[in-house]
Amino acid sequence: MSMRGEKNQAEVLAIMRMSRGPLSAYEILEKLRKAHPKIAPPTIYRALAALTECGRVHRLESLNAFMACKRGRHQHDSILSICDDCGTVEENVDSELLEELSSLIGKSGFKPKRHVIEVHGLCASCRS
Ligand SMILES: [Zn+2]
Ligand SMILES: [Zn+2]
Repeated sequence: MSMRGEKNQAEVLAIMRMSRGPLSAYEILEKLRKAHPKIAPPTIYRALAALTECGRVHRLESLNAFMACKRGRHQHDSILSICDDCGTVEENVDSELLEELSSLIGKSGFKPKRHVIEVHGLCASCRS
């Protein structure tokens, strides 16, 4: 059975929503292969690219992994707090903070296009 376009994206998204923490493209591929043994890596990469583009999935640069958006549609890039112990990720959106950051960076004439803010640490339940 072949998978195509939006159906691929829906399945990839469903897998990510079931996962507690972020998943690498390879982990997503392994999970999808249980239902679709012949699925090829480019299919996953295309689905991830489309989902990331529309904001339903975020790429975690520091982990080289992906997570489903936890905030619903948001215009500004989110701030991701990654627990180094259990792997859960909290997602916050703060447009004022990003604007402040942009204006600080902009003092030199630099024009920010995209913010990647990932904070590593321990979540509340791992700390207790
Ligand atoms: Zn989000
Ligand atoms: Zn934790």
